[in-house]
Amino acid sequence: MTPKILILGAGYGGLTTALRLQKELHYNEADITLVNKHDYHYITTHLHQPAAGTVDPRRIKIDLDELIDKDRINFIKAEVVAIDIQNERKVTLDNGQGLTYDILVIALGSEVETFGIEGLKEHAFTIRSINSVQLIREHIEYMFAKYKNEPGHPEYLTFIVGGAGFTGIEFVGELADRIPELCEQFEVNPKKVRIINIEAAPSALPGFDPQLVDYAIEVLKNKGVEFKINTPIKACTEEGVTLADGEEIKAGTVVWTGGVRGNKLIEMLGIETMRARIKVDEFLRAPGYQDVFIIGDNSIVFNEEGRPYPPTAQIAVQQGEHLAKQITSYVRNGKMDLKPFKFNLRGTVASLGKGEAIGKVGNRKMTGYTALIMKQLIDNRYLYSIGGLPLVIKKGKLLG
Ligand code: FAD
Repeated sequence: MTPKILILGAGYGGLTTALRLQKELHYNEADITLVNKHDYHYITTHLHQPAAGTVDPRRIKIDLDELIDKDRINFIKAEVVAIDIQNERKVTLDNGQGLTYDILVIALGSEVETFGIEGLKEHAFTIRSINSVQLIREHIEYMFAKYKNEPGHPEYLTFIVGGAGFTGIEFVGELADRIPELCEQFEVNPKKVRIINIEAAPSALPGFDPQLVDYAIEVLKNKGVEFKINTPIKACTEEGVTLADGEEIKAGTVVWTGGVRGNKLIEMLGIETMRARIKVDEFLRAPGYQDVFIIGDNSIVFNEEGRPYPPTAQIAVQQGEHLAKQITSYVRNGKMDLKPFKFNLRGTVASLGKGEAIGKVGNRKMTGYTALIMKQLIDNRYLYSIGGLPLVIKKGKLLG
């Protein structure tokens, strides 16, 4: 019988798995179904750009139609609402449809973690999806227009970014680049605009090379970004934020980039989780299950020192590639002949806006254009892996 392979999520992990299977397997070898709540894939690693308004959101959107061969993959645009791996081995969609499987791949990505900070969920924007970044972009422009009408409210031009991890740092770099254009458009004195990046940890970009962190802070300060490091946010209201030290900062915009947790559906699987992520076995399986694989931000993989790798697109893609090989072998040989997954950290790069970035590849540290070119190479490599040269030509040059 043709094995039924069900893949949930068409982000970095799920899409890579699906497209590799599409390439490897003949159309009648397996019955592959991919479920995603949108009919497009998006380049999450560039969401900070449309959020700041420096790039059109359409540029980071890729229609799944362009990538999927319908003869080989049955794509369903729907939201997964329940996953039962314990009893019925069934996935339920919001349209009422129930899907069964022989092999299940869960790659539903992450959600925002607010660490219980009061008011954050209600009053802060988040950089998570095409829709969420469109809202941020429009809100920023609205704040400039509002200030123009009510110049007695300097807080309209204060932009607070909570979290100075990769997303927060990349976003403030991009936002600082957008401000001169907005000031010109709305005839506002640039000195009136404040971008404040607030981080609870003792350093920005926690865990990253300290020399590169210093470089990044210097570049961003020169662009006008203010930093409050080692300063937890205690609460967020309609008016702004209150810090743990009691300071209140009024702001028309608060963007929270301070943390992620796995998808809430992961917490309903009946397996032990850590912030909605599951510690998978060396073959990327849910513990105790032969045929349920969990990858990307939903999984936790430990390094040789026993520390979890941070959830990144890089690891999600490598997991997808690895898993597709395992599934292909299963389909061809009729039995699981699994090989352990080993993550190969190829390097980490963070952009700091126009012409600036920091990066580390192996022991090599990079800054400025060299780091930016590295980021571009990483992006193009990914685009090539999912859509070949035509996609690199169509989208590659636009990013960066
Ligand atoms: P995702 O890529 O998030 O895919 C999950 C998919 O599941 C999505 O398509 C989503 O729509 C779909 N989905 C979710 N819930 C449902 C549901 N209930 N039903 C149906 N479909 C659903 N990583 C890097 O390596 N380098 C970077 O530079 C980098 N920069 C980043 C910048 C930003 C702003 C952000 C937010 C993240 C960044 N990351 C970066 C992290 C990286 O994007 C994630 O680790 C990666 O996307 C994880 O891949 P995934 O397949 O697990 O999930």
